[in-house]
Formats: sequence, structure tokens, C-alpha cells
Amino acid sequence: MSSMRRHQLSLSVLAFVLCVSCAQTPINTAIKGITRGDNATLRIEWQGKVFYVDPIGTIPSERVDAVFISHRHSDHYDPVALSTFNPTVPIYAPFDAKNITRFAVGQKIVVAGIEIEAVPSYNIEKKQYHPQKDGNAGYIFTLDHIRLYVAGDTERIPEMKDIICDIAIVPLGQKYTMRSIDDAVESVLDTKASIGIPTHYGFAEGTDSDAISFVEKLAKRGSRGFIAPPLKKK
Ligand SMILES: [Zn+2]
Repeated sequence: MSSMRRHQLSLSVLAFVLCVSCAQTPINTAIKGITRGDNATLRIEWQGKVFYVDPIGTIPSERVDAVFISHRHSDHYDPVALSTFNPTVPIYAPFDAKNITRFAVGQKIVVAGIEIEAVPSYNIEKKQYHPQKDGNAGYIFTLDHIRLYVAGDTERIPEMKDIICDIAIVPLGQKYTMRSIDDAVESVLDTKASIGIPTHYGFAEGTDSDAISFVEKLAKRGSRGFIAPPLKKK
């Protein structure tokens, strides 16, 4: 790709981000509270509540309501990063481990007034990485009436058509998770989300260019993409 073409793409993404930022709909307010750290690290802030999903590496010191882990892989489950949270912060995961509350696929809880549901997350082709039998989790956060879906490490799976949501955060890596960027786009469309946000790129797999391509492909399908800004590591 030429530098001019890349520049044009960056501008189109920036223009989109600015456009999304200017309209004060509840969904746009929700996406403003989403930032992404290393790999699949997500920080979700909603009306003063703060949640993390799959925090790894350096995490800012702050008041946190709860942490959710999707599965055991070291690029999602980082005991050293978890040890930096206040010991009173509950940590939920679909497996047993020290200082973790087991939260299995199919279960729902309410934390700080927010309902969170654990949903299936697995590979269909690349079963060696994320077999369904492991019971890995994606999560749906219900922020008032907005359903925010964090897919975890998954390929495009049939259950996504039953996960009706407003915002879908899907992995972009094509080695361990989605088979392709197109599959990531189709996953967003499956959920009927009006905004798709890419994650799981620029670390173990996937690139920043993939994220731009994801946004462009969503636009061609009449949907919208949003690249979450980086987590501020205070
Ligand atoms: Zn994984």
C-alpha cells in the first residue's frame, strides 16, 4: 500500500471517529468509555463504573468495580497484572484459579448495578487453540439499555446470531482467533450491532492496518467501525 493511500485511509478513519464522537447518542457515549491496552486488554467505563476485560501488562492504578477474564491463555490471563488491582476487586473467569471467582458460560451476575452475562467463545476450525470444551467466555455488559458484547478469543460462531447487541468487540487476529478480517466483519453483522470495535491485534497477531481494513469493510456493508483509543497507562 502506498504511503498516500495509507494516509487517505487514516484520514477516513479519523473522520469517522470524529463523526461518531460528535453525536451524543447513548451508544456513542458508551463507546467513548472504551479504551484498549495490550492485546485484548479492555477498559470499559460507564457512568462512573469501571470494568476491565483480559487486562495484561501495565494497568493504571485506579478504582475498579470488577475484572473479567475470558480464558487462561497468557495473552489474556496475566496473574502479575491482576495482582496490581486492589485485593477487594472481584475477578471473574470461566475457570478455577487463585483469587478468581468462577463464572461459567451461561451465567449472569450483577456487579455495581451492571448485568454481565458469560457467553460461548471458541474456534470451529482452529480447535487446537480454543476448543469449545474448554468453556471459554465472551461477555455481554448491559449498560442501561445498551448491550456491549466482548467476544473473547473466538472464530465466527453460530451463537453470535443469538447475541443481539449494540456494540460488538471482536478479535482481529487471523492465526489464533478469526479466520479472516471478513469473518470478524460478518461476526459484527451477525449480532446486529451498529458499531464493531476490533481487538486482539498489534500484539500476538494482527496489525493496525488490519484494524483500518476492518472499519472500511464494515462501512462497505453499511455498518460502522470504531478503533478504541489506547488505554492511558498512568
Ligand atoms: Zn487464546
